[in-house]
Amino acid sequence: MGRRRISENVKRRIYSESMGRCMNPDCSNHLFTTAGDIIEIAHIQPYSKTENNAYENLIILCPNCHTDFDKNFAHKPEEVKNWKKTREIELERLFAKHFHTFEELNQKIKPLLLENKTIFENYFLNDHKKTWDLFEGTILSNNKKIKTILSNNLDLIQYHNNSHYSNANIVHTFLIHIDEFEKTRPENEKARFVLFPEEINSLFGIEPIKDTLLPSVESLEDLITKLKKIGKYKDIKLGVDNPYLIIEEDKEIVRLFLDDTPRLRQYYSNYKSFKKVGVRLPSLNFALKILKSRGFNFSFIKDENLREIEIENIRITFIYEYCLSKLELQSLSPTKNTLVVNLHNWNGSSCISEEAYDLAKKMKVNLLTIDDYVKYINSLKND
Ligand SMILES: [Zn+2]
Repeated sequence: MGRRRISENVKRRIYSESMGRCMNPDCSNHLFTTAGDIIEIAHIQPYSKTENNAYENLIILCPNCHTDFDKNFAHKPEEVKNWKKTREIELERLFAKHFHTFEELNQKIKPLLLENKTIFENYFLNDHKKTWDLFEGTILSNNKKIKTILSNNLDLIQYHNNSHYSNANIVHTFLIHIDEFEKTRPENEKARFVLFPEEINSLFGIEPIKDTLLPSVESLEDLITKLKKIGKYKDIKLGVDNPYLIIEEDKEIVRLFLDDTPRLRQYYSNYKSFKKVGVRLPSLNFALKILKSRGFNFSFIKDENLREIEIENIRITFIYEYCLSKLELQSLSPTKNTLVVNLHNWNGSSCISEEAYDLAKKMKVNLLTIDDYVKYINSLKND
């Protein structure tokens, strides 16, 4: 009678449990080598007596420890059984740490995610089935670490009641995916219910995704102010299709794209920069794009105030009001010759009150709707 096969599910569990190292705590040899894995599966109570292929009766050892246990009787079954508990405690000790900042957390998570991504793209997507099987153990072991680390640091992930606006929701989906990856997937069948959420790579700064621009200019200004204080802010590029911040991160200069929503949202959360939406970022970016497309270079009067710019000695202040009133103009108190542009375009020309126009004349400032602004910029170009 041949042996019954060990089920895929059980194999995955013991691979994952091993974290890629021999389960004998005094050995802990790495089992996934570049030459392929040297994994051996041992029965704690001999298969010949028990025919027990359950997870509890199986353990992963390196070839030496396997021989020591099976043939040299160097360890009692009870001792070997305890190795499973020892590994669990070790995993907790090494990876259950609570970090103080998202940045510290990211330093642990990013290399593990990157390794998984490289393996997946090189072997799985290229359909190198045999090699993929060799490396799958590495993914399982990395996943186990990632899961332990993330589960203990969920409080560092941005959270919102509405799951659409929540990075914590993305992380939860990812944790379910990790469990499913480990427990299911029969051979030859690649279907999974919970796919790897691409937003995870965005969240940990591995690969940006294209999403929508987060609405609030005020949040962005607050983030710039705080990054500037700690010397991490370098520049901002607005008025382009994919606007971005240039920042310093781990001593490297990187681009933080403003449509890379999970990542930017996490930054807003890390620096407590979420602010109520006043001026909408997509509208401001649109107005600045018009300048760029007509060949005008603009500069912000202050980095942390994105609503005031200068082009060729003309000062422009952007506001966002349903209807700009006289009172609001008074409190804005723009300097002489400023162009005040209302980016709010929902009610066309009535987005500026008649009284506000009258006051503007006395203050010697120009009030423009977005349509007026476009015409004005075009006329500058024709001069
Ligand atoms: Zn060993």
